[in-house]
Amino acid sequence: MQKIREGDTVQVIAGNDLGVRGEVKEIKKGFRVNRKAGQSTRDPGGDRLVISGVRMVHKHQKPISQTRTQTGIIEFEAPIHISNAMLVCPSCDEPVRVQIKIEDGRKSRVCKRCGVAIDK
Ligand SMILES: [Zn+2]
Repeated sequence: MQKIREGDTVQVIAGNDLGVRGEVKEIKKGFRVNRKAGQSTRDPGGDRLVISGVRMVHKHQKPISQTRTQTGIIEFEAPIHISNAMLVCPSCDEPVRVQIKIEDGRKSRVCKRCGVAIDK
């Protein structure tokens, strides 16, 4: 079970955007490549998050075809590593660690700080 999901509010805990809060727009799934076996396996520890307003970068986009509509200098959010962000608890309003609790066979996310369930 993922500790951070799309739509969650997270706080950045490292780097230039330290302390900035934003909503998770997209989770880019991490994979570990095994070159010997020629296959890649899912690696949740390598996940990266696209957070609104965090790590804004500029890109000089050339018009190469009719289908590319955004050209010139465009600004967008680059993904940051999942370990550089922490989930913000809705009840205590702090960046917290998440505990996965199992009740009646159902998993739920619980704040480690105040003990309140994050998903209602
Ligand atoms: Zn809390």
